[in-house]
Amino acid sequence: MRNPDVLIIGGGIQGCATAYNLARQGVRVLVVEKDYSGRHASGVNAGGVRLLGRDPAEVPLSKLSMELWLQLADELGEETGFRSRSLINIAADDADMETLCRRQEIMQGLGYYHEKLLDRRELRERLPQVADFCVGGAVSEDDGYAIPYQAVLAFRRAALRHGAAFYEGEEVQNLRRIGSNWLVQTDKGSYEAGHLVNCAGAWADRIAMMIGDNAPMSCSAPMLMITTRVPQFAHPVVGAVSRPLSFKQFENGTVLIGGGAKGFADRENNRTELDYARIANGARSAIEFFPIIASASINRMWAGLEAYMPDNLPVIGPGVQEPNAWHAFGFSAHGFQMGPVVGRIMADLVLTGGCNFSLDAFRVDRFERKVL
Ligand SMILES: Cc1cc2nc3c(=O)[nH]c(=O)nc-3n(C[C@H](O)[C@H](O)[C@H](O)COP(=O)(O)OP(=O)(O)OC[C@H]3O[C@@H](n4cnc5c(N)ncnc54)[C@H](O)[C@@H]3O)c2cc1C
Repeated sequence: MRNPDVLIIGGGIQGCATAYNLARQGVRVLVVEKDYSGRHASGVNAGGVRLLGRDPAEVPLSKLSMELWLQLADELGEETGFRSRSLINIAADDADMETLCRRQEIMQGLGYYHEKLLDRRELRERLPQVADFCVGGAVSEDDGYAIPYQAVLAFRRAALRHGAAFYEGEEVQNLRRIGSNWLVQTDKGSYEAGHLVNCAGAWADRIAMMIGDNAPMSCSAPMLMITTRVPQFAHPVVGAVSRPLSFKQFENGTVLIGGGAKGFADRENNRTELDYARIANGARSAIEFFPIIASASINRMWAGLEAYMPDNLPVIGPGVQEPNAWHAFGFSAHGFQMGPVVGRIMADLVLTGGCNFSLDAFRVDRFERKVL
């Protein structure tokens, strides 16, 4: 496909979901991916499908995304590994509980009621193995997890079935306007497209720069580890208000532990390196909150390359310097859950120039604009 209507750069969850949503409406879509779809953050993340604790600006998008996750396997015609298990953020002390109460007031003031407080007893009913010091928490009932690579491939295959093309192992190197089109040069050839969509993840600031937009994005390498099987002890996904705790126990008993610790990112070479001291803190924290985890061994550890913005909010919306260029990047370690809604939004933007959400908080130039 040399002259697609839309050329999407990046075959992560945002690129694949966008391709699917455009292709099913009859648009001629080409995804160009420098490695293979799901190779980076979208295929190696923790799979958390989380509405709990979102920045208020993201809540409307995240809420619709959650509704989409609940029926995504039916829509795409194949499994995404999604399980609705609830997510509990644990309060380790009274100060954490106060933080949760204040947040609930704010959220309810904005009309959001999906976060519910749990007292000490309710927390233990849901998580009987939690350590004695924990005083309560907050829960969001529909939250859960999916299997990242499976979900990305489900979007990719659905897009293919609707006629999208995926050129993998091909890197976009240059972008330039020719009349009303975009000339896209890769290491293998060139294409002329009506619209561009920048879904280039940890490399998206470079694509933005080629389009003329300056994005203060950074790249980092959050780490994960997975244990051997342990007896079932946690049905909900678990996080903590102010400690580096995050885990989920799968149906086979293994426990995936995160917590936000970062290793070393080397995006030039597509590589990450683990920081063992930091990842050990995540394991210690899990054991402190759930002593039963001490009986498990760590089976595997890894890290992925992720794009972060200074305010931890993504960039979603039009390029500001040139027409017919659109961005979706900078998801700051919580973009997997947003994939389904971002795919819809990007398709709406390309096809109509607008969407059903206010995207002001996600503008690419929000760090440059000054209030007079
Ligand atoms: C360890 C880890 C744990 C995480 N846990 C969670 C979680 O539990 N829940 C959650 O919601 N989010 C989580 N995230 C964040 C989530 O994975 C990301 O926000 C999301 O996957 C970003 O998707 P993407 O499509 O923007 O980027 P990516 O998946 O990185 O895809 C971008 C693609 O663009 C390609 N590309 C880049 N430049 C070019 C170019 N010039 N030419 C062609 N192709 C190019 C890349 O090769 C890449 O495949 C986690 C991330 C990591 C790393």
